Amino acid sequence: MLRPWAQIKAAGQNVNYARKVWQRLNGVYPRECNICGYAGMFRAAGLPPRFDARCPRCLSLERHRHQALWISSNEHALLRNKRILHFAAEPILRKIYSALAARYASADIRGDGADMTLNLEQIDQPNASWDVIVANHVLEHVDDRKALAEMHRVLAPGGLAILSFPIAPLYEKTYENPAIISKADRDLHFGQWDHVRYYGADAADRIAAAGFEVSTFSVGEPYVHRHGITRNTRDFLARKL
Ligand SMILES: [Zn+2]
Repeated sequence: MLRPWAQIKAAGQNVNYARKVWQRLNGVYPRECNICGYAGMFRAAGLPPRFDARCPRCLSLERHRHQALWISSNEHALLRNKRILHFAAEPILRKIYSALAARYASADIRGDGADMTLNLEQIDQPNASWDVIVANHVLEHVDDRKALAEMHRVLAPGGLAILSFPIAPLYEKTYENPAIISKADRDLHFGQWDHVRYYGADAADRIAAAGFEVSTFSVGEPYVHRHGITRNTRDFLARKL
């Protein structure tokens, strides 16, 4: 318990801190959205807040704009007229992928307005039936060995899985602990109540273990500051040989 004078001091510090946060919620620097073309102030998102994260026009976040940069430089060779299956489809990326695909389906384990109800750990689809699978911020919720094996099975030879997840690149090894199961403990250890691991520098090896050839995509400047992209954002491109 803090003494009264210390409580007053702490309250004052909190008020000052909250004021600084409040002043930045509707934008710190003007940015450009590479998805919808908006230029101007972005909004904060997330807890703790990430400033200049959300485009106010198309509602894209940093990672959506990051993947859109990869899409725009690879769409002709890898995405156009392909069969694209998109798990936990983010509305803004759904728009982009579905416009490029010959056949497109969104999929979700609960349905939730998706085209298909599918479990990533046991995908109810025939072998080699899709050319591209997109699964952003899904693997950290599931048994990724099962999920990666299933994606590998469902992809056609030469097919591509586009994957992203939170990563702590300075963790040598992915952090998992099956004893951590309560919501509070998962939030504390893995960063969110329904995450089951925190990926580290071995993330590409875990993907490769399912039989994929793995490469990564990330951008530096001027894209990071111009489009409001988080440093260390990385997309994994997993090719079925
Ligand atoms: Zn936008």
